[in-house]
Amino acid sequence: MTILPVIPISPDQPDAVKTRRRPSMPPRHLADLDLAGRKSAVASLGEPAFRAKQLSTHYFGRLVRDAAAMTDLPAGSRDKLTADLLPTLLTPIREQACDDGATRKTLWRLHDGALVESVLMGYPDRVTACVSSQAGCGMACPFCATGQQGLTRNLSVAEIVDQVVYLAGVAASGAVTGSPPRLSRVVFMGMGEPLANYPRVIEAVRRLTSPAPEGLGLSQRHITVSTVGLVPAMRRLIAEQLSVTLALSLHAPDDDLRDELVPVNQRWKVAEVLDAAFDYAAQTGRRVSIEYALIRDVNDQPWRADLLGRLLKGKLAHVNLIPLNPTPGSKWDASPKPVEREFVRRLQEAGVSTTVRDTRGREIDGACGQLAAGELTDASAGGAAADAEVAQ
Ligand code: SAH
Repeated sequence: MTILPVIPISPDQPDAVKTRRRPSMPPRHLADLDLAGRKSAVASLGEPAFRAKQLSTHYFGRLVRDAAAMTDLPAGSRDKLTADLLPTLLTPIREQACDDGATRKTLWRLHDGALVESVLMGYPDRVTACVSSQAGCGMACPFCATGQQGLTRNLSVAEIVDQVVYLAGVAASGAVTGSPPRLSRVVFMGMGEPLANYPRVIEAVRRLTSPAPEGLGLSQRHITVSTVGLVPAMRRLIAEQLSVTLALSLHAPDDDLRDELVPVNQRWKVAEVLDAAFDYAAQTGRRVSIEYALIRDVNDQPWRADLLGRLLKGKLAHVNLIPLNPTPGSKWDASPKPVEREFVRRLQEAGVSTTVRDTRGREIDGACGQLAAGELTDASAGGAAADAEVAQ
């Protein structure tokens, strides 16, 4: 593991978690606005509207946010434009790398002291950003580190987008060893429940996928939104007619166990969430990814594999098994490899496409479910986003 430069948390920084301050949203940022909104913002500063496009090209096209580098803008306008439209939203507090530099976790401090994390994962053919959509999470899944924190607040559109733009800049610098310099995928598998911050997450997806300079120009198909299964929001997502990949964190095929592992199941049952997921697949023509963290002696029994197989047989679905990443103080552990293999075998025998996720970032608490930035009490604590590579 490599610890990258550390920026110490200054003692006078407000700490939203400790002091339970009321969450406050950050200042408005260029990435909160579409191009038309940016034009009127620029005009209200007394600048010609075309400056909106210039500024957008710097931010989304060149991944530049430093006024001094914007030499095509008159010196007198640069500071004014960047101060107004590119306020600092995310301050990196700590960056850690592992897997020979192919996995990098960043801990951010937001304007109100809230902490979130993102993970950048490099592969030979692609670079993926795993981003947070909320500070903390209100879904309370007992095996997930973020779930233990509770929700601090929703992130703004720009706080979400800026994580990606920043990480795209890291990739472009060539820092991700053995990977292409262009970030091409985003997974909403960091901290938070994306569909509980619905309008902002959808707007962020639009910004990430609009062609430059309005947005980052990523392909919708290369964006994965992962949910615990908030059925009304899943239905709303179907109506958006986007072609993002949907991941459903199922973790159990039966309501008894899922009520415990994913408490929101007490409201929307397995049959209902799966129906919504299958409808999403039918609408988009894209396989849904069924996430299943294998927990020793909890959800890894052969009969549960068989039941899951029956539920998914013939559906446009793929099972992504995640070896459980034990979180501090957790009573649970990952399933032994032979049990995992048997689980895979049974699903495959039922005709269900199944893979086991490669667990990136464990060493830096950067793997799935390990994000726990809010528990940071000193410069050595923390946790991170997700490993999250969804087979697509
Ligand atoms: N709230 C979203 C995104 C969360 S993180 C969701 O639940 O889908 C992405 C994935 O990591 C989810 O499938 C989540 O259930 C899983 N996860 C959480 N904690 C984990 C852990 N300790 N080990 C393995 N996977 C975990």
